[in-house]
Amino acid sequence: MLRVAGIEQESMIDGEGIRFVLFMQGCSHNCTGCHNPETHDFHAGTSMKMEDIIKLTESDPLIDGVTLSGGDPFFQAKKLIPLCKYWKSKGLNIWAYTGFIFDEFMKYKENKQSDDRLTSDMIELLNYLDVVVDGPFIIDKRTLGKEYIGSSNQRLIDVQKTLKSNAIILYELNNDNW
Ligand code: SF4
Repeated sequence: MLRVAGIEQESMIDGEGIRFVLFMQGCSHNCTGCHNPETHDFHAGTSMKMEDIIKLTESDPLIDGVTLSGGDPFFQAKKLIPLCKYWKSKGLNIWAYTGFIFDEFMKYKENKQSDDRLTSDMIELLNYLDVVVDGPFIIDKRTLGKEYIGSSNQRLIDVQKTLKSNAIILYELNNDNW
């Protein structure tokens, strides 16, 4: 069972195109000014079966992709891996938001010292993601001018290119608003 804070069936603000957004419950980043403090408690939210989440995406032919938001979805990486595998097999692209900095994932992958909350499941989850919007929300860097981010430290990362080249490669949006 996954702990879910909420679902937006057809969003146009959480990534490119029309997206199914799964807000996962639980986050320990404690960013000052977080817009979703109700998603922090790991025991709150609702339990949902993977099959029931899949039914919601299967029943909607309009969606272009799925966005994992929260909370921080990486804290439920193990449970999200089979879901993301399924969505990729159906041709959906997957974005995920995280309060972790992507470089920390890369350090962990190379067995270097990094954030001790990271797990091997989080690294495996990356294999199924197209875009990660990384970094905590920093209130002093708050921005309203750029799509999909809340503060200017956050980046849209092209996950597969980054993993392949072992260097951060930013995702290029299919419009000119950046
Ligand atoms: S990572 Fe996101 S959900 Fe977690 S505290 Fe920061 S802004 Fe809030």
